[in-house]
This record gives sequence, C-alpha cells and structure tokens, in this order.
Amino acid sequence: MLAIQSVDTFLVDLPTIRPHVLSMATMMRQTAVFIRVQCADGIIGTGEATTIGGLAYGPESPEGIKLAIDTYFTPLLLNADASRPALVMETLGKSISGNHFAKCAVETALLDAMGQRLGLPISELLGGRRRESLPVAWTLASGDTAKDIAEAEHMLDIRRHNIFKLKIGKRSVEDDVAHVAAIKKALGDRASVRVDVNQAWDEASASRGIAMLQDAGCDLVEQPVAAHARGAMARLAQSAIIPIMADEALNGPESAFDYAASAAADVFAVKIMQSGGLHAACKVGAIADAAGIGLYGGTMLEVGIATAASAHVFATFPKLAFQTELFGPLLVTEEVLAEPLQYADFSVKVPDGPGLGVALDMDRVAFFRRDAERKSFHDGASAQFTGG
Ligand SMILES: [Mg+2]
Repeated sequence: MLAIQSVDTFLVDLPTIRPHVLSMATMMRQTAVFIRVQCADGIIGTGEATTIGGLAYGPESPEGIKLAIDTYFTPLLLNADASRPALVMETLGKSISGNHFAKCAVETALLDAMGQRLGLPISELLGGRRRESLPVAWTLASGDTAKDIAEAEHMLDIRRHNIFKLKIGKRSVEDDVAHVAAIKKALGDRASVRVDVNQAWDEASASRGIAMLQDAGCDLVEQPVAAHARGAMARLAQSAIIPIMADEALNGPESAFDYAASAAADVFAVKIMQSGGLHAACKVGAIADAAGIGLYGGTMLEVGIATAASAHVFATFPKLAFQTELFGPLLVTEEVLAEPLQYADFSVKVPDGPGLGVALDMDRVAFFRRDAERKSFHDGASAQFTGG
C-alpha cells in the first residue's frame, strides 16, 4: 500500500503563436489543467488535460475538468493505493461516469508516478515502445492562404514538418477547396496536404467537397460530417478514394468498436483524452488494428505533459500509417516543461526517462497560472496578438 497523500490541480493560460482558426472557434490562447498527485514515497506524478476552444469543440471545458477533479475525483484518490493505478482507475470509473479528459489526466499522473518509481518510461508500462520518434504534422490555420503557404514553406525549410493539416469548414465548400488546392499546388510533392472539416459539412456537401479535394491532391479528410452521423461517415468512407478519418466520433473503445463494425472510417484519430485515458487509447488502437483501419496519433492541442503522454501511447502502436499531429507545445508561445520535447527532422522524440520522461518547470508554470497574483497577463496577451 502506497497512499496518495495530496492532489493539486491548477489552470494555466498560454498565448498561441497566432490566432488558430477552426470551423467552430478561433483560439488566441490554450488553457491546460495540470494535476499533481503526491504519493507516500514522495514521488509526484503529473497529468494534463486540455480542450479546444473552451467548450466549442466538445462537452468538456478546462474549468469543468478542474472542478470535477477537485470535487469528485480527489476524495476518491486520497489514501488510495498509488501502486495499483489500474485498480484506482476502476474505482473512479465506478463512481464517475464520462469525464474522459479528467480521467486521462489522473491516469497520466498515476502512470508517471509508477514509472518514476520503477525507473521505466510509460511506454514500457504500456507494453513496450516500438519507435523512438514520431513524425509530426503541422496544422495550417491562420485563415489566410498566402500566410499558410509561407508558414508551410518555413516549416519545410527548417525540417520541422512536411505533413500539413488544413482546418476548413468555415467558408463555402468551393472557397475551402480553392484554399486547399492553392496550398497543395505551392507545396507539390514536398508535402502531404490533408484537411480537417471538424463536422462542419452535411453529407451532400461532403460528397461534393471530397470529390473536389481528391482532384486537388488532398491525402486525407478528417471528420467531414457530424460525429453522430455514423451512417453518412460510412457512405462517404465507402464511396471516396481519399481515406476518411474519424476524430470527434471516437470517444473510447466502445465508439471505436461501433465505427469499426460499421466500416464508418478508413482511419482513426486516436486521442488519449477523448479515449478516456492511456490504456483506453491503446484499446482504440487495437480495435483499429483488428479491423484493418489505419491509425493517426491525434492531439487536443495539449502542451508538454499530455503531448509526452500521447507520444508514449503512440510509440507502442504496431502501425501508425498516418503519423501524428503532436505539435501542441509548438502552438503556444511559452514552454511549460523544464526540458522541452525535442522536435527535429519532421518528428518528435519519444522521451526516454522514467515515467513521462518530462517534468513541469514549476516557476514558469506559476507565472502563467490563472490564479497567480498578476492581473495584467490576459490584457498583455491579447494586446500582443492584435498587434502581431
Ligand atoms: Mg480533428
């Protein structure tokens, strides 16, 4: 028995490097919920949860995640046995429905602590890593075609990304496809160009849009229709030549099984938080493998802690045909880790230290905490962005 002695949660607001324009929101900053779980042996495990655009993307918000952990998770965690993470998560699951993002943050912290205790990276606790680095796509979402091309050229020049995902769905189908076609024409064979519609199209628009995207040289179409429109996804996946990827539709192993059984996607975007945790994400990956569905390592635009956790999960996948998009830490102006994740040669290195293999820089984090005694940050951040 190794009792959990304390659970601390806090919100950190970080400015984005530029406005990040999605079909449902424009992000000027990202908010991370961090959790620190202290165990009786003095080891502290860290976890993180984020959402995209507050409540715009899905039903969970950073503030709600913190509230849920403080009010409902913490009383169950205190004095639970930190040396039995799976049993602790099972206990939480019996008393708390849903709340996948909070569960993922808690499981990350428990596995980080366990890995530190055993001297093993989380990827080894999850069955063993198969790769040391993961190719990383970048999302072009400035909302401006010329700016996006310039950004892509810069990423190619510095060898950081050669896979680009374009966020579309906000404008007309014709305008969006023209935007994609212009970028693909500029980049040619030097890059893979993909789109994420974030559920913005109806089935008829999607049929038309996907045919046009195919002519434009697009390689992958992500969540073209609503998450609940499984039938439409299945018809689109069966008729399109471009692979169709499910993202928002996947909320854990059950939905992954449902989608696989319905042949409603060619590719799954696996996300640790949407899945409900690291083990749940591994199960989603296993279901995809069993069904012959391709895998893509997705992001909720997490910063350093949850991006490292995702990397540990994706490093265990036997196949990762559509690579990853673990660029979250690069979308914000501030680093929260003591030692940043390493991006080079179009990939991110999977950390190889015990547990997550990364740790928060608590001084930096203290500065950006929402409850910090510093009133000017939000004004300063927005001034910085409207000016730049
Ligand atoms: Mg997506």
